[in-house]
Amino acid sequence: MRCPFCQSDDSQVKDSRPTEDNSSIRRRRVCSACGGRFTTFERIQLRDMLVIKSDGKQQAFDRDKITRSMSIALRKRPIDMETIEKATNGIVRQLESTGESEFSASEIGDLVMQALVELDIVGYIRYVSVYKDFRNPEDFDAFLEEVRELQKEQTHKDAQKKKSIKAAA
Ligand SMILES: [Zn+2]
Repeated sequence: MRCPFCQSDDSQVKDSRPTEDNSSIRRRRVCSACGGRFTTFERIQLRDMLVIKSDGKQQAFDRDKITRSMSIALRKRPIDMETIEKATNGIVRQLESTGESEFSASEIGDLVMQALVELDIVGYIRYVSVYKDFRNPEDFDAFLEEVRELQKEQTHKDAQKKKSIKAAA
C-alpha cells in the first residue's frame, strides 16, 4: 500500500480490526520509509460498476473517490474518518441496490450531497459550491437561500423529534 506522504510502497500493518458495522476491515499502517501513519479499509465490492461522466466517457466506479471528495468537503469539520466511511458505504449500498451497473456522475454527486446534508451543513455547502460550478454570486445567493430553508426544515424536524421523545417518556 503506497504511503500517502512519501509514496513509498513499503508499509507495515500495526493493527487490523473490523469496523463497527462489520462491512470492512480497518488497518492501521506505518510507512517503513518515513514513519507516516495512515489507515486503510478493505471491503467487498459486489459488482463492477461504471460511471458515465458528463462528457460521455466511462470510468470504473471508484468508491475511494467518494470518500476523498467527502473528506475534502469536511476538512477541519468535526466529522471523523469512520463516519465518512459509513456514509460512503451507504452511498455504495444505495447504488448497488438499484441493480444497475452504470451510473451517471451526477447521480453519484446527488447521493454525496444528500449524505453531506445529513452529516454537516458546512461540508455540504463546500461540496455543492465546487460541484455545481457557480458562475456568479447570484447563483450562490440562490443556493444559500435553499440551504437556509433546509436548515429551517431540519430544526423543525429536530424540535418535533424532541417533542415525541418527551411525549413517550
Ligand atoms: Zn512514507
